Amino acid sequence: MPTSPDRAADVVVVGGGAVGASIAYESARRGASVMVLDGGPHPATGCSYANAGLLSPSHVEPLATPANVAAGLRFLFSPRSPFHVRPDPRLVPWLARFVRSAAPERVRRLTARMQQLATRSLALHAGYAAAGLETGYQQLGSLDVYSSPERWERAATHVPAGAQLLDAAEARRLEPAVGEVAGAVHHPEDAQVDSRRFVRALLEAAQRDGARVRWGVAVTRLLRHGDRVTGVETPDGTFTAGHVVLAAGLGSAGLARGAGLRLPLRGAKGYVLDLDVAEGAPRIPVTFKERRVVATPYPDRLRLCGTLELGSDSAPMHAGRVQAIRDAGLHGLPGLRPRRTVETWAGLRPSTPDGVPALGRSARRPGLVVATGHGMWGIVLAPITAEMVARDILEGAPVLDEPAFTPDRFSGLRLPDLPIPSSEDDLPAVGLRQRLRQADDGGSATAAPPRSTPGAR
Ligand SMILES: Cc1cc2nc3c(=O)[nH]c(=O)nc-3n(C[C@H](O)[C@H](O)[C@H](O)COP(=O)(O)OP(=O)(O)OC[C@H]3O[C@@H](n4cnc5c(N)ncnc54)[C@H](O)[C@@H]3O)c2cc1C
Repeated sequence: MPTSPDRAADVVVVGGGAVGASIAYESARRGASVMVLDGGPHPATGCSYANAGLLSPSHVEPLATPANVAAGLRFLFSPRSPFHVRPDPRLVPWLARFVRSAAPERVRRLTARMQQLATRSLALHAGYAAAGLETGYQQLGSLDVYSSPERWERAATHVPAGAQLLDAAEARRLEPAVGEVAGAVHHPEDAQVDSRRFVRALLEAAQRDGARVRWGVAVTRLLRHGDRVTGVETPDGTFTAGHVVLAAGLGSAGLARGAGLRLPLRGAKGYVLDLDVAEGAPRIPVTFKERRVVATPYPDRLRLCGTLELGSDSAPMHAGRVQAIRDAGLHGLPGLRPRRTVETWAGLRPSTPDGVPALGRSARRPGLVVATGHGMWGIVLAPITAEMVARDILEGAPVLDEPAFTPDRFSGLRLPDLPIPSSEDDLPAVGLRQRLRQADDGGSATAAPPRSTPGAR
């Protein structure tokens, strides 16, 4: 029986968080027919509900770093620590891969690549704002403050390009809200968005370009014809697709497993504390480096974010850690006068054990593209993720085949250990790319050029 047109699309995006919304927008504006299915009742019910909203390319790095491994061990039994691993035997294989992945040379190469992607993504964010998308984008710069002279001196040895090292007096001149500090690093090019507004704005723009968005429709299974993924099953019936893009955050793991693909995602819990403040809020986002807390000013609130807890997905919010975040804000911003707490919330950052996103086509499952596992950096990386997905599947640009990111890497499919490219135009993995493309026997839709082009492209 032929599929009715309202149950078919070139691209079915599973998940309408920051990543899925961006993919819907970048695909729809390239002329593809797009359908977004999300199990939540309204936009941004997953991790994109609230976060620091920081677009700071020089902060982006894989989650699995030697520093995070050391912090995990150091803070193992501390109830107020900013990094915590809850002992859970089910977490052991994930943690073992996390530790193995923190090899310094690998981290160095992947940090460089992720920062390169984030820099391009920051330009896309700016372009969205210039095109009139109301994402809450503001380019105010950001400030990292250090209270320990040793840590500040260490930071001084690797100040990123474009950033400036400030002593205590300079830091307080730039941001008078901060208290006693040893020094700071100013990132003038950093920006911020409001992630809930970002999701709404991107989905509305996608809808203007013809995308259909359905809330309360949870995908229960990926449909297959042989190896090829051909659509999705939901309680509301089935939908067929040229490409299914799995951007369901933590929900991606179960759906992938049902299709025979291992995607060992775990939630890295973080807390958000929104305060209505009478005075003393910073003018620009401030990261308190030792306490790993970010203070992001929004027009109607000051948001304090922090903590990375592994193994506590279903556990309730930990009051001690919420208090530690609040204390860090009050200590770092001594003039802060909160009137009331607007909201306290915890989100689960979708995180892979090797600390980098699962992004690309599956050679095992042609027709399936995975875009998840962005961990701490899903908001800054959403636009570049979307651009890569849309260019690859709709324009045939071979930009999704990086072995470090392939979603097949957890499924025992042996991939050659190819170098991580230093730029998008410098992808060395042509042979691999061709093999993957042959495996995916031509499901990509050829689409019209973009309908609307954000300014900064
Ligand atoms: C405290 C904190 C601070 C952060 N700060 C920053 C920051 O400063 N900068 C930054 O870049 N990132 C930050 N992040 C990380 C960022 O929030 C996440 O990486 C990002 O929100 C992930 O987006 P996503 O679209 O992949 O997932 P989600 O937002 O979780 O979206 C997934 C969507 O899929 C849907 N879904 C799940 N299962 C199904 C299914 N079976 N069928 C249909 N739909 C389904 C869900 O309903 C949800 O809407 C922070 C996170 C936290 C917690």
